[in-house]
Amino acid sequence: MSSETITCPDRPMLIRILEGKAPPEEGEALAQHVENCPQCSAQILRLREESTPVPLSVPPQLQRPWKAFWMFAATLLIVSIAIYCVVQQVHRP
Ligand SMILES: [Zn+2]
Repeated sequence: MSSETITCPDRPMLIRILEGKAPPEEGEALAQHVENCPQCSAQILRLREESTPVPLSVPPQLQRPWKAFWMFAATLLIVSIAIYCVVQQVHRP
């Protein structure tokens, strides 16, 4: 009975539920309430939209491949220039 008379959780609590940081017993009751409460589920949806598509900084794992790519491209360029010079010298009369 108590889980059905629960009051709507406030915004910080909803964020905690979203992040799975709400206390287990309370979180379960609140999650159940949110499922059945159109107001809370709408707010959860809004919070989820706000929090997901805005990563403030690109994680380093995503930055490194680009650095490696440019290092690779620069090396390739230098090597091909060197090969070109060698070929030019070989074909010189
Ligand atoms: Zn509610």
